[in-house]
Amino acid sequence: MDEADRSDSDGEEKIPVGISSCLLGEEVRYNGGHKLDRYIRQVLGQYFKFIPVCPEVAIGLGVPRPPIRLVGDPDAPRAVDVTDPDRDVTEDLAAHGRRMAGELSGISAYLFKSRSPSCGMERVKVYGDKGAPAGKGQGIYAREIMRANPLLPVEEEGRLNDPLLRDNFLLRVHVYDRWRRMIARGVTPGALVEFHSRNKFLILAHDQQRYRRLGRIVANAGGGDIEAVAADYISLLMEALRKPASRRNQANALMHLAGYFKKLLDSGDRQELADSIEAYRRGERPLLVPLTLLRHHLRRHPDAYVEAQRYLEPFPRELGGIDR
Ligand code: SF4
Repeated sequence: MDEADRSDSDGEEKIPVGISSCLLGEEVRYNGGHKLDRYIRQVLGQYFKFIPVCPEVAIGLGVPRPPIRLVGDPDAPRAVDVTDPDRDVTEDLAAHGRRMAGELSGISAYLFKSRSPSCGMERVKVYGDKGAPAGKGQGIYAREIMRANPLLPVEEEGRLNDPLLRDNFLLRVHVYDRWRRMIARGVTPGALVEFHSRNKFLILAHDQQRYRRLGRIVANAGGGDIEAVAADYISLLMEALRKPASRRNQANALMHLAGYFKKLLDSGDRQELADSIEAYRRGERPLLVPLTLLRHHLRRHPDAYVEAQRYLEPFPRELGGIDR
């Protein structure tokens, strides 16, 4: 990791991330247990500074406690005590969510416990009047956190087992954290141009259409209210990155990068690079193959612009990216 990285982003300072306490091993569940996730605590914990919250304990439900569940309309469910459905804690959980969204305005991501009526991000069971499952909804606390900051990268522990989803989450967290740090230093048109310039291939690999729109926003950054321009930019950027990159788009970004070496490589090396990108596009090689070749050529033919591209290492490899 270079010095520029240390000063402007990830470096020695850990990324602040909100998290459901039970995922760190805290014994806060209704039955006095926990839901420790070792990858989160041991691997992500080396780079993330976790801020644990158990909303059910925070609103005074205690440990142990009768479990709660979601009931009613899946789009606007209520959280009630399983043993005493008249005990409704929806408002308390929602109010705590709104309060914490304010207190945690400095976080760069949130990791939620799946399937929880409080912390579940999506697909939480909602029960109907007669006690049968009626659909799926969001945990009451999680919904408020996400509503308060729709740009915040959020994920659930279970989904991190999927390499594509994990890669996408890690990527968004790092991009968003670097953005927050840049904003904290005071955004200028020049800073925005530099930020965009370093993320160009990353964006291209995700969404070509939004890549062009982001380019237009940055090109006009000098002419308007820079804060408003920055708000438009980050909103579109996070939208672009939310979808995992397809092989087609990745291959397109790789081909663009390969273009920087066109005149520097002999025909054999050029062909080898083009073939490896094509083999990746067809699903016959992992991304690591053309990326390794590109990094190899970059070492032999240093180029400051290409070296600065986040695409080549969007987050530390130790975090277990898909095949970088
Ligand atoms: S899922 Fe949320 S509310 Fe339930 S124990 Fe974990 S942190 Fe507490």
